[in-house]
Amino acid sequence: MDRYAVFGNPIGHSKSPQIHRLFAGQTGQALGYEPLLAPLDGFAGAARAFFVDGRGANVTVPFKEDAFRLADELTPRARRAGAVNTLMKREDGTLLGDNTDGAGLVRDLRQAGLDLAGLRILLLGAGGAVRGVLEPLLAERPAALVIANRSEDKARQLVDEFAELGPLSACGFAALQGPFDLIVNGTSASLAGELPPLPTGLIQPGRGFCYDMMYGREATPFCHWAQQQGTARTRDGLGMLVEQAAESFQLWRGVRPDTASVLAELRRQL
Ligand code: NDP
Repeated sequence: MDRYAVFGNPIGHSKSPQIHRLFAGQTGQALGYEPLLAPLDGFAGAARAFFVDGRGANVTVPFKEDAFRLADELTPRARRAGAVNTLMKREDGTLLGDNTDGAGLVRDLRQAGLDLAGLRILLLGAGGAVRGVLEPLLAERPAALVIANRSEDKARQLVDEFAELGPLSACGFAALQGPFDLIVNGTSASLAGELPPLPTGLIQPGRGFCYDMMYGREATPFCHWAQQQGTARTRDGLGMLVEQAAESFQLWRGVRPDTASVLAELRRQL
């Protein structure tokens, strides 16, 4: 049976094994998928050992940059993101590195019925997740994409790197001026039960869409804030997780799984 895995540290919380087993059952693909804990300073060795007979792997925190360095070849979107969340062993034994996080976000927004063309988008954060979604978001031709981050210099650095791809700018939280059509929270603040210090007026009451890359059984602090601002819709990042997994699955197996049923099952089990 073909072997697949997800590497991380910690890894016990990962939903990837469950998602890929559901995809495999649904598409009739015979494969095994296991969670693998790599030592913090030993990702490359663990991955090389796995790929003696492994076919593909997902990579999560904190190894996406290690995986970027390990890959023999990168897809253009992985090179641009500077991070790899999907590795695939090719016929000649070399490793291809891809990054499916951004495509996962864009697909989930589309599933929610959102057309990003012409929208004013605010992206909060400037870490690995935001870097990974910038190119796919700009490819959807928004009217403007503003990055706001606690450390403003990191947001400005991203603008320097990605500005050639579209209408991108950066600022600190306090200088933000709305309204925006879509706000995506790509900070890890929600993980600590916190919220970036956002001014009011970023969303017009009854309009706008707020998306938190984080997910959970309860509304995240950001989704809670968005509801208080009167936003029309909120959505958390569980769909992004399922969609990025579907992109990886398609790369490995050449089959596109149905994501809606898997998302519903995961949501039920939260
Ligand atoms: P990083 O550690 O690379 O970046 C964290 C970012 O959050 C930085 O911009 C940091 O700002 C900011 N930040 C952290 N705490 C606060 C705070 N209290 N107030 C304001 N800003 C804060 O993390 P990632 O980019 O890898 O991940 C970000 C989030 O996205 C996580 O919640 C992660 O779970 C989620 N994610 C979800 C995915 C999905 O499929 N649903 C996929 C990938 C990520 P500063 O630069 O100033 O430190």
